Amino acid sequence: MKLVRTIPALRREISRYRRTGRPISFVPTMGVLHAGHIELTQRARRIVGRRGIVVVSIFVNPTQFNQKSDFKKYPHTLAADCAKCRAAGVDIVFAPSARSMYPENFSTWVNEESLSLTLCGASRPGHFRGVCTIVLKLFNQVQPDVAIFGQKDAQQALVIRRVVRDLDIPVKIIVAPTVRERDGLAMSSRNARLSPQERIHALAINEALSQVRAAFRRNIRNASKLKKIVRSHLAKIHGMKVDYVELMDTAMLRSVTKASRGNLLAMAVWVGGTRLIDNIKL
Ligand code: AMP
Repeated sequence: MKLVRTIPALRREISRYRRTGRPISFVPTMGVLHAGHIELTQRARRIVGRRGIVVVSIFVNPTQFNQKSDFKKYPHTLAADCAKCRAAGVDIVFAPSARSMYPENFSTWVNEESLSLTLCGASRPGHFRGVCTIVLKLFNQVQPDVAIFGQKDAQQALVIRRVVRDLDIPVKIIVAPTVRERDGLAMSSRNARLSPQERIHALAINEALSQVRAAFRRNIRNASKLKKIVRSHLAKIHGMKVDYVELMDTAMLRSVTKASRGNLLAMAVWVGGTRLIDNIKL
């Protein structure tokens, strides 16, 4: 496995592989890698096969944090991340500096103006502008044939798909299922910030989603009722504050009043000072 720290060095590697026609699959991350990320790299490997190249980027993108304090608190664990990537059979870890990704007087942005207005886009102004811009830059740098994203960030995956379609980027987007801890909590780099007590409280998120799934199976279709299941379950837990709970169609990310199969129930919750997101597709 090679650790590449600059854009020109990456370009040299990529053009070497491109010349020999080896397919490239790409997993963009912000590091602090967990088993969820590793699953994405394994899927990337399965897609391109042994001959292909698996690239993981590790870059904590400052422009997608709407709060400076959140960005500053974000952990950096490059050495451990590289060890995990090496063990998982990743070929290249690309970890550029913020300076090289955002040179002085940087002034070009990618804005998706529909799907990114709701959910996390509404509660984190500017978040998706930062995400879309960095992902597009990374696509230009890595030139992947395939890029793998996680369903845990369902809105992000939908927004990126839209950008790729709208701007004719020649990359196939694959969305992989959410990987969970044994007790059901969705894996997230942010989980490490939870106190032992908060970690227990956070289980309520997946419990609430399971209750919604069960209610949907019992033929409850009223969206308000389904959302209320989540809110009432979380209200029982001390220190939890709901940012949003929404039931949406996945084509346009518009709220629905009557649930149907394939709809997305998504939520963001504050557990103490940590904001966690999770979702299920009905
Ligand atoms: P992050 O490092 O949090 O920006 O995530 C990088 C990629 O990993 C994104 O595509 C996420 O959706 C994905 N990801 C994060 N957590 C999980 C998880 N628990 N299961 C599957 N994919 C995940």
